[in-house]
Amino acid sequence: MKILVAVKRVIDYNAKVRVKPDNSDVDLANIKMAINPFCEIAVEEAVRLKESGIATEIVVASIGEKPCQEQIRSALALGADRGIHVETENNSDSLNVAKLLAKVAEREQIDLIILGKQAIDSDNNQTGQMLAALLNCSQGTFASKVCVENEKLLVTREIDGGLQTLSLTLPAVVTTDLRLNEPRYAALPNIMKAKRKPLQVLTPDELGVTFKQHTQLMSVAEPAKREQGVMVNSVDELIEKLKFEAKVI
Ligand code: AMP
Repeated sequence: MKILVAVKRVIDYNAKVRVKPDNSDVDLANIKMAINPFCEIAVEEAVRLKESGIATEIVVASIGEKPCQEQIRSALALGADRGIHVETENNSDSLNVAKLLAKVAEREQIDLIILGKQAIDSDNNQTGQMLAALLNCSQGTFASKVCVENEKLLVTREIDGGLQTLSLTLPAVVTTDLRLNEPRYAALPNIMKAKRKPLQVLTPDELGVTFKQHTQLMSVAEPAKREQGVMVNSVDELIEKLKFEAKVI
């Protein structure tokens, strides 16, 4: 089984996000970037499938500007075999990303594509679904468990009423939920080895995809500041305040 994992370069989840003074976008100057956490889970799952003898090769792809090669290298250090960087200016237009990933998957004759369920910067939660639609293949979103049985991919998903297990025919798209696994840390020798693993750079033109602007970012604003709380001395006082000051009960 050949696996494609899509990894997005995003702001590190520990970094404090700043908005540009003109509200045009988020300020990325001098900010720590990392692999999107859900994509790290996707890489880990692919590596586990390879370690268990099910996967034969793991290709990792990232779409965006040149620096996203750093995140491809990180995924190679975690155990992926080779990388593909599709060089574009914008990395958050889901439909464009899905079209490029679809072309990569077709070219590489991929059996399973694993993506994060969402990117923590744009929070779109739609690339995997769009990709499955473009490829007209099965999809298992928000996977909390993945296993292979009799050439089928069994994907367990956490839904409102409990756990749902889907049996997917390959090729398939799977998006990862938080509980699927706990990603490993890259060992130093593997970080060194990753530098020598192949990384191919492609353009949308080479993949036959014409970029369209489907969405336009209008403005970005910081969340409203939370007002300071007050300490109350008793439950009675709390109820009084909720009734007469906040007027919520
Ligand atoms: P989204 O739909 O934008 O929330 O992203 C969901 C998933 O799609 C991410 O976790 C990635 O696996 C994949 N993805 C989104 N954008 C990119 C990108 N620019 N490069 C590679 N993968 C991406």
